[in-house]
Amino acid sequence: MTSGNARGGDLVPAAVLAVLGSRGPSSRSEIARLLQVSPATVTQATKGLIARGLVAELEDEPSRGGRPARLLGLVREAASAIGVKVTADHVATVKVGLEGSVQAYATTPFDPTAPDALDRLTAILKAAVSAHEGDLLGIGIGVPGSVDSQGSGVVSAPTLGWSELPIGAYLRDALEVPVLLDNDVNTLAAAERLYGVGRNTASYLAVTIGRGIGCGIVVDGTIHRGVGGGAGEIGHIPMVDDGPACVCGAVGCLEALIGEAALLRDAVTSGVIADGAGIAALAEAADAGTDAAVALFDRAGTLLGRAIAGVVHTIDPSLLVLQGEGVTAWRHWQPAFDASFRRHLMPARRSLRYQVNPWSEEQWTLGAASLVLAAPFDSTDATGHQGRLVRARLQDLEPVR
Ligand SMILES: [Zn+2]
Repeated sequence: MTSGNARGGDLVPAAVLAVLGSRGPSSRSEIARLLQVSPATVTQATKGLIARGLVAELEDEPSRGGRPARLLGLVREAASAIGVKVTADHVATVKVGLEGSVQAYATTPFDPTAPDALDRLTAILKAAVSAHEGDLLGIGIGVPGSVDSQGSGVVSAPTLGWSELPIGAYLRDALEVPVLLDNDVNTLAAAERLYGVGRNTASYLAVTIGRGIGCGIVVDGTIHRGVGGGAGEIGHIPMVDDGPACVCGAVGCLEALIGEAALLRDAVTSGVIADGAGIAALAEAADAGTDAAVALFDRAGTLLGRAIAGVVHTIDPSLLVLQGEGVTAWRHWQPAFDASFRRHLMPARRSLRYQVNPWSEEQWTLGAASLVLAAPFDSTDATGHQGRLVRARLQDLEPVR
């Protein structure tokens, strides 16, 4: 266990770079407040960073009376990470700058059930590493399943056919760069922590709707992962006693009722869409006012509102963020969700705010890269040795002119 002082001395320069990367130009006092260290500690750390050419003092803004705070900024895009999302039929990779800019998004077909799946994944990532220009801090990987810890990376993902596979150790040996893994919903929560609501909010729920229903739980700035990485599986909250079978092996789960596959199944059964049509066809039917389509979204919104009200009472967050591919049809979920969510909340919690984030598939890979880019903020050592390697790389960056 590292003592607070030792970690502070070791962590601050890397954390200052991370703050400037994720927030943009900031004053020394702002940085000190965000990192919860003394202004003198920040001054000491920035002195070294300025000497190495990584950070520069920006020109003062025109004074509006009083002494203007001198802002600090990154001299250049200081470093970047590779974000990876593994799905049942492809691997998406992206390069993400420390400041959250998404560059070079690519997808490659991938069969996770093939006998040589791990070698194939390694080859895809090796190609991404060798094509990477600039300082690479590490690789972050999001998977649709549970991961024992970010730094270890033992993955169980039924939809990929993976059971307790030591993906992290395998990839680290093959790639020789830091590798962090987590459940894909948790990676979205990590991105919110760096670039979204987490800048101003310490405790929030990052709920995803779409193919799966999930929830990243962030409490006091830290993702709550549970004993085995299985926290936040709200898709498997039991909603009814005799419901459809769920992929998890139980029956009547929330996801088995309102996940994308369930909505499509019910839409085909009720004759709203043809067999094989996608979720966009169901949304179009609702746009056209088809009663059965509207009713399906109403039921989904009602069940989601009821389930999330229960989670709110359990966690007591200050904000909800809704995202995932399902939010593209949110206009159809919203009326029933709003009514159900408010009705099931205790009166004192009924004013709880929620926001719906615009969605693109790139969000998954941005989230995965955020595992690496958030490592400097890891005050709990949850990222373990891999997180320490990322921080060491961030501190050892060579200035580039
Ligand atoms: Zn289930």
